[in-house]
Amino acid sequence: MSPSPTARTPLLQVQDIAVCYDGAIQAVHGLSFEVAAGTVVALLGANGAGKTSTLKAISGLLPAERGALTRGRIAFDGADLAGLSAHQVVERGISQVLEGRRCFAHLSVDDNLRLGGLVRRPSRQDLAQAVERIYARFPRLKLKHRLQAGYLSGGEQQMLALGRALMARPRLVLLDEASMGLAPQMVEEIFATVRELNGQEGTSFVLSDQNAVMALAHADWGYLVEGGRVVASGSAQALRERDDVQEFYLGSTREGRVRYLPERWRRAA
Ligand code: ATP
Repeated sequence: MSPSPTARTPLLQVQDIAVCYDGAIQAVHGLSFEVAAGTVVALLGANGAGKTSTLKAISGLLPAERGALTRGRIAFDGADLAGLSAHQVVERGISQVLEGRRCFAHLSVDDNLRLGGLVRRPSRQDLAQAVERIYARFPRLKLKHRLQAGYLSGGEQQMLALGRALMARPRLVLLDEASMGLAPQMVEEIFATVRELNGQEGTSFVLSDQNAVMALAHADWGYLVEGGRVVASGSAQALRERDDVQEFYLGSTREGRVRYLPERWRRAA
């Protein structure tokens, strides 16, 4: 709905998509957004706004939930993702960290990471080196590398889920509700790592989050989603500074939980 952050062809283009579950439940209605290469984009919205469905549409995960993309186009690096399996989307360079962290609870931290790297069909040595790179990024995981993932704290499981996604060497990571249920300090640590990865390796991120304060603090660009469509967008700084965002989106609640959207955004949609 709004101009992209840069004039270059975006890394990810989501154009006017609609998502439907069970052939009846409309979750997303003509949603569009873009991610410029090397940027961090926040997708903000309340519970049920359609953020997760949008990410699953990108990742090819809708069929597993009897969902379908019924309209629109999703392109990565200029190429249409239509019809690709979830596995093929990862091979193209997009990894998703699902809401709820979804580690393999009975497998060790080591094995969870190795599984994330298999998509690249690496040699044993490459795989070991890739795991060590993740441990260098998340020293807490290294300390517990033999532990079953189910025994990690929520924050550590989030790190493991992100680490596993990074094992596929993605160019774009879709991070769904990373802050959910975590202490503010842990959320800060995870988002700071996102910024570090973005700065050092140029990895692009979509942060889909209800925690607007935290996501906008670490993003370059933001989109506000309501009722399955984008109702406002802008640079993260511009969004943070807008009076209506302050008042209605960030304001009144220090934790940054989204309460509701101003009426005029709804009218603009
Ligand atoms: P949350 O933060 O709670 O994940 P969200 O913004 O990510 O919210 P979605 O999870 O995409 O929103 O949900 C959008 C709508 O689609 C909601 O009305 C939800 O009930 C519905 N929905 C999501 N997943 C399914 C599913 N597997 N089957 C049927 N309806 C679904």
